[in-house]
Order: sequence, then structure tokens, then C-alpha cells
Amino acid sequence: MSSNDNDNDRYSGNGYGEMVSSKKECTSCEQNNVDSITESIDSVAVLDSTTLSMCAACGKKGNSDDMNTCNKCKMVKYCNAACKKKHRSKHKKACERREAELHEEALFKEVEPEECPICLLTLPLDTDKSQFQTCCGKIICHGCIHAMLMSDGKDLLCAFCRMTNIKTDQDDINRLKELMNKGNANAFNYFGNWYDDGEMGLPLDHQKACELYLKAGELGSVEGYCNLGCAYRDGRGLARDVNKAKYYLELAAMLGDIRARHNLGGIEAGAGNVDRAMKHWMIAAKAGSERSLKNIKLGFRDGFIAKDGYESTLRAYHERQDEMKSDERDTAKEKRGMLLANLRSIRRGM
Ligand SMILES: [Zn+2]
Ligand SMILES: [Zn+2]
Ligand SMILES: [Zn+2]
Ligand SMILES: [Zn+2]
Repeated sequence: MSSNDNDNDRYSGNGYGEMVSSKKECTSCEQNNVDSITESIDSVAVLDSTTLSMCAACGKKGNSDDMNTCNKCKMVKYCNAACKKKHRSKHKKACERREAELHEEALFKEVEPEECPICLLTLPLDTDKSQFQTCCGKIICHGCIHAMLMSDGKDLLCAFCRMTNIKTDQDDINRLKELMNKGNANAFNYFGNWYDDGEMGLPLDHQKACELYLKAGELGSVEGYCNLGCAYRDGRGLARDVNKAKYYLELAAMLGDIRARHNLGGIEAGAGNVDRAMKHWMIAAKAGSERSLKNIKLGFRDGFIAKDGYESTLRAYHERQDEMKSDERDTAKEKRGMLLANLRSIRRGM
């Protein structure tokens, strides 16, 4: 305690007497004036981190907001484009390393799942258990569609926007085109699906499908990028290209597409990168993918995954499955034949 007493004496001796007594005393070191000391430290930090930065090329200080940031690594700032250009060769290596790190961080981040806009439960991962509505452009779970069918059996209305469902393929196509004109990303993806399968009276055209998937992805449809990635992987509608497949599947996975992530695991495993494959399958399994969980079980059996990781994945998988469950969805599954027959009869005007 004696050294602390000395500190107090020193402050008093330097003319802090009155001020110090009104200031807070730190309970652990009994140092006075704690507030003003931390305040000044804070203000210096704020000045440095948010307003002033140093040019990585010439060292001149400037206002951060006005400076030219490296748009690849976001790590360094320059006074202007000339300084940026001058520094390029020196900065290249560090920049690429940081850019790769940022990519890895984004790639292996878990993303919040998409919800059904009516019941607000996570949408089923199985695309066969939800439906894209060409009236309002929403993706609705079969549970909500079935509930609507039960309350309004005669003339099925859209469970979201209450518009009467379409009677013919051509009506459906016209509605989808209207959505595409409004820039609805999912509409481009579904139009691509129809060409890919030669559905709705459209010709089978994989190339056209891929063009639509790309447009869908660019507008924000994760399924569009996933479908394009799979097309590159399989050489369907364009030349087979594993690097491009990986590129588009990664874009989709980063935006939360679980099917894309499961497929990415397959590409990584095929290239001998088992650790990366397991990382993808673990995230996908945690998000509820049954196929990825199967691979994780094999990975655990073969010693690629530790017990802790395996158990936490299994737990998260079951939690997510519970999150996706509801009485309405169970009934829709039970009455699936009836539901599909109704959806079909309306589509075909029977
Ligand atoms: Zn500079
Ligand atoms: Zn950079
Ligand atoms: Zn729903
Ligand atoms: Zn609707």
C-alpha cells in the first residue's frame, strides 16, 4: 500500500490536489484521476482509428474517409490512386494473403436460414416440400399451402397474397415473366428449371437454363448460383469446368445455400481435400442436411472428425430438424398425394 500512497503524494505535489479529490479512485490500485486518464486514452484511439490513417506508400497522414482503400484486402489506405499504383508490387503478396483469408472466413461462416413468409419456420431444405408462387414470387412451405387448401378447397388461393392460382401452363409462364420483368431473382431460377427439365411445354434447353441461372444468381438467387455450379460440374449446357463449378457453388454457399455447400464438399473430397470437405459437410449437416450428415458419420468412423465435433454436429442437426417441424408440415407430408394432385389439377386446369 505504501507505493500507492506515494502516487497520491506525487499527484498532489504536482498541483492536482483539488481535481484529484473530485475524481474517481480506482479500487484496485487506488490511483486517482482514472476518468480523465481513460478519457484521454479513448479520444486518442478514436482519432487514430476513425479519422486519421497513414498512406501505406508515402506515410503521409490523412482523413481515413477521404483516402483510397485497397479494395481487395481492405487492409491499407493511400492518399490517392498514384500512391496506390506505386505501392502495388510491394503490397501484392500481403494483399493476396489477406484476400485469401477474407475469402476463407466468408466461406466457412454459418448463415441464417431462409424462412417461410407465412409460418416463419425455417423453409424445408428439400425443395420438394415448398413451392415458388408465380403470383407474388414467394417461396411457401407445403404446410402453409396445405392449410390453405383445407380452409379453401374449392378454389385454391395463394396462401400468401390470396391471388387465385393459375389454370394453365401458359398463365404460369406469363406470371413468371411478369416477375422477371420486375427483377425477381427466384423467377429467373425457376424459368431456368423449366428449360432444364423441358417442363411447362417449354423445349429442353440446358444452355438457355444456364443463362437464366446466371442472371438469377446475379440478382441474388442462391439457388441460381447453385444450379449454375452444378451445371459446370456436370457439363450440362456448358463445357465441364470444375474451377467454375467451385466458384459458383462457393458464391451460393456463402449466401446460405445448403445444397451448394453439400456439393462443394463433394468437389473438395474429389480433389483429395478431405479436411475442407468435412468442414463443408459439418456446416451443411448443422443446417439440417441429411446427406451431409451421412458423410459426417463416415468421416467420424474413419477418424477425420473428432468426437466433440461429431457430437455437436449431430446435436445441431436435430435442433434444426425440430425447428423445421410443424403439425401443418407433418399433415402436408401425410397427405402429399392429395396436395400434389390438387396443385397439379389447378396447374393443368382439370
Ligand atoms: Zn501517399
Ligand atoms: Zn490490398
Ligand atoms: Zn409455412
Ligand atoms: Zn401469391
